[in-house]
Amino acid sequence: MAEQLIISISGMRGIVGENLTASIATEYGCAFGTFLRKKDVGKKERLSVCIGRDSRPSGQMLKSAVTEGLCKVGVDVIDLGLVTTPGVGIMVRELGCSGGVVVTASHNPAQYNGIKLLLDNGIAPPPDAAEQIKQCFYDKHFALVDSSNCGQVTSNEQTDTIHITKVLAIVDKEVIGAKKFKVVLDSVNGAGGRVTKKLLAELGCVVSAINDEPTGVFAHAPEPTAENLTSLCEAVKTKRAEIGFAQDPDADRLAIVDETGTYIGEEYTLALAAKYIFSKKTGEAATNLSTSRMLDDIAEEAGGQVIRTAVGEANVAAAMLEHNCIIGGEGSGGVIDLRVSPIRDSLVGIALVLQLMAETGKTISELVSEIGGYYMSKDKFAAEKSEARQILDSAKETFADAKLDTTDGCRFDFDDGWLHLRASNTEPVMRVIVEAKDQRTAQRYIDAVLNIRKEIPG
Ligand code: MG
Repeated sequence: MAEQLIISISGMRGIVGENLTASIATEYGCAFGTFLRKKDVGKKERLSVCIGRDSRPSGQMLKSAVTEGLCKVGVDVIDLGLVTTPGVGIMVRELGCSGGVVVTASHNPAQYNGIKLLLDNGIAPPPDAAEQIKQCFYDKHFALVDSSNCGQVTSNEQTDTIHITKVLAIVDKEVIGAKKFKVVLDSVNGAGGRVTKKLLAELGCVVSAINDEPTGVFAHAPEPTAENLTSLCEAVKTKRAEIGFAQDPDADRLAIVDETGTYIGEEYTLALAAKYIFSKKTGEAATNLSTSRMLDDIAEEAGGQVIRTAVGEANVAAAMLEHNCIIGGEGSGGVIDLRVSPIRDSLVGIALVLQLMAETGKTISELVSEIGGYYMSKDKFAAEKSEARQILDSAKETFADAKLDTTDGCRFDFDDGWLHLRASNTEPVMRVIVEAKDQRTAQRYIDAVLNIRKEIPG
């Protein structure tokens, strides 16, 4: 069966040439522009949207197609070119745009592309707005304009410069620069290479960049997980580097390799960034329900606390804005610092981690062992909606003694770990995330879930 085009809160994703074509992208542009015009009716005479793309070969075509759609409904378009997702998030606010569009399929394989939407605050639309855009796309009641009111296209090449300036403002360039850190950067031939090399140069690092050509021909599977980063681990060892950084194709996720060439796991990216932030001040952090308890440990030690949200970057970002959080993000290597923008940003993660290393004089492996850690398992199994509901009901009985959070599926907190069960929004699967003090304890919780599943009549 052909895969379905996915339209979710964060936008549209599909396989280019199969279910994601230029004409679909144009109609999606029309739908987004129509939504923005309805939303901002009477507020502004002309609306503008900035648009950028990652390095995928289909990016230029889809960017042109979305641009056409926006112009058709009278929205001006500012073309940012080949830039990162956080770069677009920053420029939406910087340029006072009504929205932003990023043509990217993030960490998904090369045959995919996607259209990610941002509102004027730089974050993805909340569920009700996302639903309106989706409805408009299906109904095709677009607010088309006549020739004299067509949107105009201009270009802006300032994204990297503004992005770097904002990131440098949250760290001490001199302190990091004095260390002349040896860094290996793997940008998977995505959008991150160019801007990140510039940032690292500003921070006085000695950089070996691999896969830094923005060709969209990914040198390895693009998700920055251990199995995909063996060449980075090797390069850190042979170059005798102090740290290795890996970005996903749109550079909102960051994974780290320590000075021994060991992949430390994406959960540590946010933990290390938070360790630095909480060493300077205390306050609230925000993350989703599936992210490691390490963040709670770090916040608690500094007298702060962690707000937990439903999974999804927009939920975390909204909580951060509401509570003015000092740090936040997601366990999948996504760090958000509101001083830069309310969007996950690998450049922010890089800068904060280098600052932590510079100030403490410690290696990454030392910092990781100071944080300590847990055993974490992320798994999923097939479950239709009704089965997923039954599993959640049954789990509530099985784990009746645990502290329960039902913001997004069920998260059960125990003294020695936690378990998060949630049905995926985009596919018929149940995600099972467990974290515990050791593997045996985690396995006990996983086994309990598997038993519950077995007892559900299929
Ligand atoms: Mg991404």
